[in-house]
Amino acid sequence: MHTKNERIAGLVRQLLAELGEDPSREGLQKTPERVAAALSFLTSGERTDPIKLINGAVFTQETNSMVIVKNIEVYSLCEHHMLPFFGRCHIGYIPSGRVFGVSKLARMVDMYARRLQLQERLTEQISRAIMESIDAKGVGVMIEAQHLCMMMRGVEKQNSVMITSSVLGTFRESQATREEFLALIGSRAP
Ligand SMILES: [Zn+2]
Repeated sequence: MHTKNERIAGLVRQLLAELGEDPSREGLQKTPERVAAALSFLTSGERTDPIKLINGAVFTQETNSMVIVKNIEVYSLCEHHMLPFFGRCHIGYIPSGRVFGVSKLARMVDMYARRLQLQERLTEQISRAIMESIDAKGVGVMIEAQHLCMMMRGVEKQNSVMITSSVLGTFRESQATREEFLALIGSRAP
């Protein structure tokens, strides 16, 4: 019985042959196993339990001020081409008694990023997870990312950055809150 990674490696070997390569040449001999291991890691978020990850990360703290975490690195794979998109995620939220540990917030971003994704969906999944797990009064998430499927295939799109945002609760209802968020993350309105 082959393991899952061995089966994926077999498919990559076939893929290389279909692309006109010789999978047995020296440089490619271990490539199928490497690709299988890389893809398995890059999609591991799908197999991570969000409840488990979030539970250990929440602390009681009486504050009603906006919490901002800027410039969380994001690396994901677009589901249309299975090519990377990457950039920065900015998160703001107004707690109601519970806050996140900062490193766990970054790990939550990784968990949602490590799967076949759309930037829009990634942005929303992060904002919803924050809203629901700490019952926040409001959440704003903005992701600025560059997509290799555009940059490597397109012409003169090398510097294009896609910006997505998701606002919930008070961030959606109050323009002042939204503006405070945008000012604190140092961005112009999208
Ligand atoms: Zn794509």
